Amino acid sequence: MSEVEIEVENKEIVKRYKTLLRSCNSDITREDKKLIRKAFNLAVEAHKGVRRKSGEPYIFHPIAVAQIVAKDIGLGATSIACALLHDVVEDTDYTLEDMEQMFNPKIRQIIDGLTKITDLAEQDISIQAENFRKMLLTLSDDVRVILIKLADRLHNMQTLDSMARHKQQKIGSETLYIYAPLAHRLGLYTIKTELEDLGLKYTEPDIYRDTSRQLNETKKARVQYIQKFTKPLKDTLQSHGLICSIKGRPKSIFSICKKIKSQGVSFDEVYDKFAIRIIIESTIADEKSDCWKAYSLITDNYRPNPDRLRDWISTPKANGYESLHTTVMGPGGKWVEVQIRTKRMDEVAEKGYAAHWKYKQEGVSKEGNLEDWVNQIRELLENPESNAVDFLEEFKLNLFSKEIFVFTPNGDLRTLPKGASVLDFAFDIHSQLGATCLGCKVNGRLVPLSHKLKSGDQVEVITSHNQKPKKAWLNYVITAKAKNKIKSSLKDAKKAIAEEGKEILERKLKHLKLSFTDSVINELCSYFKYKTSLDLFFDVGSGVLTNTNIKEFVLNKNSWYQYLKSKIYRKSNKQIEQKEEVKFDTLVFGHTEEKLNFTYSKCCTPIPGDHVFGFTTIREGIKIHRHDCPNALRLQSNFAYRILKAKWIDSTNTESIALLNIKGIDRVGLVTEVTQILSNNLKINIQSINISSVDGIFDGLITVVILDKNSLTSVIETLKKAEGITSVKRKFKST
Ligand code: MN
Repeated sequence: MSEVEIEVENKEIVKRYKTLLRSCNSDITREDKKLIRKAFNLAVEAHKGVRRKSGEPYIFHPIAVAQIVAKDIGLGATSIACALLHDVVEDTDYTLEDMEQMFNPKIRQIIDGLTKITDLAEQDISIQAENFRKMLLTLSDDVRVILIKLADRLHNMQTLDSMARHKQQKIGSETLYIYAPLAHRLGLYTIKTELEDLGLKYTEPDIYRDTSRQLNETKKARVQYIQKFTKPLKDTLQSHGLICSIKGRPKSIFSICKKIKSQGVSFDEVYDKFAIRIIIESTIADEKSDCWKAYSLITDNYRPNPDRLRDWISTPKANGYESLHTTVMGPGGKWVEVQIRTKRMDEVAEKGYAAHWKYKQEGVSKEGNLEDWVNQIRELLENPESNAVDFLEEFKLNLFSKEIFVFTPNGDLRTLPKGASVLDFAFDIHSQLGATCLGCKVNGRLVPLSHKLKSGDQVEVITSHNQKPKKAWLNYVITAKAKNKIKSSLKDAKKAIAEEGKEILERKLKHLKLSFTDSVINELCSYFKYKTSLDLFFDVGSGVLTNTNIKEFVLNKNSWYQYLKSKIYRKSNKQIEQKEEVKFDTLVFGHTEEKLNFTYSKCCTPIPGDHVFGFTTIREGIKIHRHDCPNALRLQSNFAYRILKAKWIDSTNTESIALLNIKGIDRVGLVTEVTQILSNNLKINIQSINISSVDGIFDGLITVVILDKNSLTSVIETLKKAEGITSVKRKFKST
């Protein structure tokens, strides 16, 4: 490079730095400026001579990240300095100790957090998940780490053009998979939207290009319509003393594409391609009434759709979002979404966590749902039992879910994901409350544990000292917290019984003059077909494996397989016989253990019983690979989002729970007859039964334990034949 060129470049660096300073909050002190200057100087020096893939000097990147941190997120001097320094320790010879010496321990801590979250794209799914967990762990140190990381990711996405195609795909899908939902959850609306649009641009370039072209082509008409719509509003609002700005905001390309896909409509058929946003200048005391006043004036002009009123002011969303939404009938018979909010609400909505925090310090923002969320994450992370991949999946479920608002008996508000049951609610309040939950009253009415909550429900938990978490509970809950607590409690319970079983077994063996050694335990396991000694001990502890069985084992210790063939054995213990036939004939996928069509991959030719995972291919559906397949690592790291958990099960031995809804005409003895048919004739285990009879109409919900679909069909058919029963239907979710 010539000296002139270098001169030009240096000028550009200084210019960008000055823009950065202008983007800082107005309340920035001289001390703050000194800190930022020092960080800037060090970063310039450390990255000197290094260039990015695009050919630009490397320092452009940290300056841009700092700019996003200052302007779009609204963070202060420490974060800006950390953003400037974020790649220094990772990419140059400077160490964390240097950061502490030259700056302070806080800056060291944040940079340490940032350095730990290496880019995920190159790794195995479990490492990715572990990495993500680490990223969330930094929440407990300092939320700023994640905020700066998001800014870093945003700038990398903005400059992704110079990367190779396959890397764009990888980084783009990772952004959609983790970073955009996280930005959303932290309330960073602007950043979330941009991450989504850019993610789409690199993962599905054709769709992205088409949609943005169509948006451009229709822009003029849209702008005209917006003007026509807002003109009368402006006048009315002003004449009633409301100072406000009215803007038409196009919806993001990502959200329009999502609508086209999910609703199966064309671009033209998406009616809400834009929303009108009204931002009111208000005082804290008048915020709410001003917003409703605006609502009232708007709906004087345009008729509102009564089903589309959303009041996020009285009850802000869990990510801190506050606004009043309505959809009104605009000129030409078009539905138009109108968002009403104050300037403060707008800042919180756009900038998220930092703005929320700032107003909270000033005592303005509502008690933070956001902090609740951060605390929940912390609690989840502290549970060492949960496996990283499960955690990631559960966490993501919670990231995407819509929210409902429910009340405690005292009238306190709790936010839960949509679809949460009363059991989720109990665990949300307190783990102990969940673990001992016997039932709940919703709006004064007694409901089963699986009962799903709706917004506005008031829930009272009924507990009992004797209650303990049951396996079936896992089917009732959807929150990660409840799942984790139930799982770890079940594990503990199993361990405790196994512990007892171990002692019993030791005593019994001693009695039979056999010592309690590893080799004897191994023989026992293979004799009775247990996978682990824990299972063996557990069955001894819970009485499934009896004294007689163990005596038989000892008697036949050396020739047990011959004994297996003897009739006595078969007759004497059916349960053990079943264990004998353990087989893996069915593959199930995902958490819900769904049966899906699949094919075997050719590269590792898995067989039933192997440790496998499913991989969604574009043309050939789901293929299964062995975990130790040579291709597994590559698939998992490049296409983590296409991986499905898979597990072999023995379908003849898998119990599942089915919920039957029985309707009919009530008569004396009907209930007795139904239960008799189930338990005596069909030998079906009834788990719970809930029957009501109103005006001679019988309506019952019965939970039965069944082995497979065939036996369920015969249950339904048999019940239908009973006198007076008009319908028997399987229900999939209790409502
Ligand atoms: Mn970076």
